[in-house]
Amino acid sequence: MTFELDLHGRAVFVVGRADVSRRALADAAARGAEVTSLSADEAVAALETASASSPSTPIPVDLVVWVDGAPDARARLTLLARRLRIGFATSEPVAPQPRGHVTLVGGGPGDPQLLTVAARRALALADVVLHDRLGPREDLHLFAPGAELVDVGKTPGHHAVPQDEIERIIVEKALSGLRVVRLKGGDPFVFGRGGEEVIACRQAGVPVHIVPGVTSAIAVPAEAGIPVTHREVSRAFTVISGHVPLSEEELAHAVGLGGTLVILMGVATLPHLSAGLRRHGMRSDMPVAVLERGFTPSRRTTVTTLGGVLEATTRARVQSPAVIVIGEVVTVTSGVEQAAVFAGLA
Ligand code: SAH
Repeated sequence: MTFELDLHGRAVFVVGRADVSRRALADAAARGAEVTSLSADEAVAALETASASSPSTPIPVDLVVWVDGAPDARARLTLLARRLRIGFATSEPVAPQPRGHVTLVGGGPGDPQLLTVAARRALALADVVLHDRLGPREDLHLFAPGAELVDVGKTPGHHAVPQDEIERIIVEKALSGLRVVRLKGGDPFVFGRGGEEVIACRQAGVPVHIVPGVTSAIAVPAEAGIPVTHREVSRAFTVISGHVPLSEEELAHAVGLGGTLVILMGVATLPHLSAGLRRHGMRSDMPVAVLERGFTPSRRTTVTTLGGVLEATTRARVQSPAVIVIGEVVTVTSGVEQAAVFAGLA
């Protein structure tokens, strides 16, 4: 700042956009001034009013500090300040602070080896990471050193943070200037509510980027040696949410399409699904694999048939999270040693 004054108790107008005026604002406040931040037009209007009022009316400001604005406004303010016998000083604008932003990062199915380079990079630069129950979480403090880690999958009461609350937090943190990573299991746009978070950011004017991830829909079968497509066996795979039971029409389409069915969030609705697929004509000896807790030391593969799936899953006490694969691909590579592919997990 180009003035050296004791401003104790003095009223100071700092003129310019708040982001480029932050040094002048802080400086005037540190000298004890009562600071008002206002645009060039607002400052001109205030001084015009003071200049037009009767000489007995107190002038609302002792010093105008010019940072940024149109040259004609500056000329006008200089003139008005001289007329009102108040101080006029200038201060250099500072570069606007980089704004906060949100990166939606797909964290893959849980093994840190399946984090992408882009995901690692986003984590390394993050100020705050909001993460879920699924996806890599153990070494997060190493991948995002110094970042605040917020578990939105569970709170101490074991309830997930509601979606609108997650959106509120990521927007609020980004608007306060932080680099926010929203880390999700698998891919952010596969049953991950990533789209809703993008919309929330856009509505709040927060820049948002997407880092796609390795989805469990393909990777968990792969870990078990099951290719979701295979030449002359399956030329389509359909990824379905089992969160709510399929309608009759959807069941008919799923059977009619042929190819592989991959069901996420489907453990609870499996009885409805298996009965529905059979009702619509799927063979009861169609191979089925239920793949629990992929990419963890406690992963388990149950291979059965559509007709036998209920008995097999009840006997094994199958639990979520699991990926269910229905189709010929389940047995096409039987015996393949998947541990060779993911040697780190063997
Ligand atoms: N966006 C995620 C899916 C979210 S839905 C993705 O692309 O993978 C959550 C469901 O994904 C779970 O109910 C389960 O069906 C599946 N899932 C995710 N990670 C899994 C894992 N490691 N093992 C088994 N199933 C998993």
